[in-house]
Amino acid sequence: MKTGWKRLNVSDAFIFDQDLQAIRSRTQTERSRIFFWHATLPPNDHPELLLPVNPLIVDCKPFVGALQTGCKRLSDFTTNRFREACQDHTQSPLVPLPLQAKQWRLFWAFPIHHTSQNIWYWAILNSLSCQYTLHSRAPTIFVTPNCPICLSEVGTLSHFLYQCPQKWTVWETAWIKYFGLSPSTFDIHRALFSLEIPDHPSPVFHVHPCQITSSIILALWRTQWSFIFDNRTFQTSSINSKIDALVSHLSSDLNLT
Ligand SMILES: [Zn+2]
Repeated sequence: MKTGWKRLNVSDAFIFDQDLQAIRSRTQTERSRIFFWHATLPPNDHPELLLPVNPLIVDCKPFVGALQTGCKRLSDFTTNRFREACQDHTQSPLVPLPLQAKQWRLFWAFPIHHTSQNIWYWAILNSLSCQYTLHSRAPTIFVTPNCPICLSEVGTLSHFLYQCPQKWTVWETAWIKYFGLSPSTFDIHRALFSLEIPDHPSPVFHVHPCQITSSIILALWRTQWSFIFDNRTFQTSSINSKIDALVSHLSSDLNLT
């Protein structure tokens, strides 16, 4: 943090303005007490360091207080230590590791829908906004870390993607149909996070295996958010029909090329 401190511009310092009800840059006279907000680092082990009043307003007094009283010396509070403190230790042991360069090249060459590729990319980086993450960052809005679909388990990334019982039914149905395989959770995890997808779909389907996986991701994603925001039902048979439509569309595109 010491090195970063020296490099920071004064314009990087902000304050919450009670009159404006918004965060703004500090004025010249307000620049004697600078604070920093690591918005992307959830302090799971040290929630006292950040206290979100709501997603737009952050009370940084606890953070500053911790710097003043919680550390023997300010120099002990390095950026690495802060990142370490912010690590999410509650996630499943199956949390993904980033891909190798060769795998990234393979990933970016996938002939799949851009939206699906985007979702898949953020999943690989463990950065999708699953319920657990949303609850950690904005507990007043997302009052429970539990999955909004099954309500019974914590909505971790792997639960959000495939471990939720209803989502698992979708994956299982699609894999049996398109790959002729009944998958284990490890199979799905490897497909998503190591790109180890079955080589060939059943001969009747003229699509790349990655397109089947991407169609499942996209259909689940769209249904999840229409369930959350539009109060639509989360019906597994309907999701599998959406997957069929997406695969069929990709198949016709493939046949034209
Ligand atoms: Zn669930």
